[in-house]
Amino acid sequence: MLYYSTKNKNHKVTLKEAVLNSLAPDGGLYMPEHISTLPKHFFLDIENKTFQENSFEVAKKLTGENIPNSVLQNIIDETINFPAPLVYLDEYTASLELWHGESLAFKDFGARFMSRVMSYYLRGENREQIVLTATSGDTGGAVAAGFYNTPGIRVVILYPSGMVSEIQEKQLTTWGNNISALEINGSFDDCQRLVKEAFADRNIQNKLSVSSANSINISRLIPQTFYYFEAYRQIRDKKLPITISVPSGNFGNLTAGLMAKKMGLPVQRFIAATNANNVVPKYLQSGVFSPKQTISTISNAMDVGLPSNFERILDLYGSTWNKITSDVFGFWLNDADTKKAIRDCFTKHQYIADPHGAIAYQSLKTTLNPSVKIFLETAHPCKFTNVYDDDLSKMIIVPENIQKMKNKKKQAKQMESNFDIFKQYLMDLY
Ligand SMILES: *Cc1c(COP(=O)(O)O)cnc(C)c1O
Repeated sequence: MLYYSTKNKNHKVTLKEAVLNSLAPDGGLYMPEHISTLPKHFFLDIENKTFQENSFEVAKKLTGENIPNSVLQNIIDETINFPAPLVYLDEYTASLELWHGESLAFKDFGARFMSRVMSYYLRGENREQIVLTATSGDTGGAVAAGFYNTPGIRVVILYPSGMVSEIQEKQLTTWGNNISALEINGSFDDCQRLVKEAFADRNIQNKLSVSSANSINISRLIPQTFYYFEAYRQIRDKKLPITISVPSGNFGNLTAGLMAKKMGLPVQRFIAATNANNVVPKYLQSGVFSPKQTISTISNAMDVGLPSNFERILDLYGSTWNKITSDVFGFWLNDADTKKAIRDCFTKHQYIADPHGAIAYQSLKTTLNPSVKIFLETAHPCKFTNVYDDDLSKMIIVPENIQKMKNKKKQAKQMESNFDIFKQYLMDLY
């Protein structure tokens, strides 16, 4: 199995190259050359197998001979070390809770898998790989937790000073060892620009090996297909049509869902649910894709004006709008309506959705019964307590590992948003 660039299908590389380089030299994103259907017996047996066992079958299809079976088995067992429960709120509606991992966001699946795959490809080398990550909050926490103490890898996280929540900042800055946090005096876009400039810089490329842990990396996408099958395993009435709504920002999560469908997962329809950063829902409506300046919202992990994985979605459907719109519907909410959706979900079901999941919850209202209506809960609500009214805020239980983190000391290097300073920092690491 090889991986091609979305900008040139003739440019193919191994998984090792795709993972270590993140991006193709022509700027395209890597895609598996075959996304083939899983055998019938996989779906017939799915309830008799564990999350890990099913994930192994799926991973094997997407990685081929790139990773030996025994190694892949270990990687899966270490990645899938927490559950993804499908919680029914009523007869038809269910929440797929993807926040039971260490950083309380679905990104734990991607980060844990990626760190182990990368570490496997770096075995026996006597140099360190540097993983650069710009974060608006959730990515950095998952990457830090996923890569902590991974041999051969040093992680440098850049985050915008004063723009992440208190819990998120602790999740970025309290690790030490191979995890370093840079508190940038600037916006998320500034952080991202510094990382991009580092990738383009000759001196840095000559001296250091750098990778990105953002969802442009194919090794973050592969494990995100696993939990779509895990959702299906838990569906009570598998004869009903299935709709899955995905809270989306950079669209890695939805891309993984569409890959799962291509592998035979019987989902009738996906919903691309966004906040006011609605370039994809607008595209689905009109056929016109026009990226916009990023707008700040209360569902800030989806504040993306130019979603990078959109290119992969176009690739999956041969850039044919008709085909995309028969599988994917668009939906978006502003902040006021997101708060209403949170309140409605609680009033009707006594369930506290996080602001991202709440948009997906609301998007399912137009889907007719009887059918299975699943929304992805992409993060634990305690990461966004400032969004909730007091009565709800008081009811949110902060998990124990996060409580402990609150008492740990922040270790971050403050830095101006200036490439020369950042470059010097990187060059001085070794
Ligand atoms: C990252 C994130 C998203 C967006 O996921 P994409 O794969 O970038 O579309 C949604 N919700 C939460 C809580 C996130 O952390």
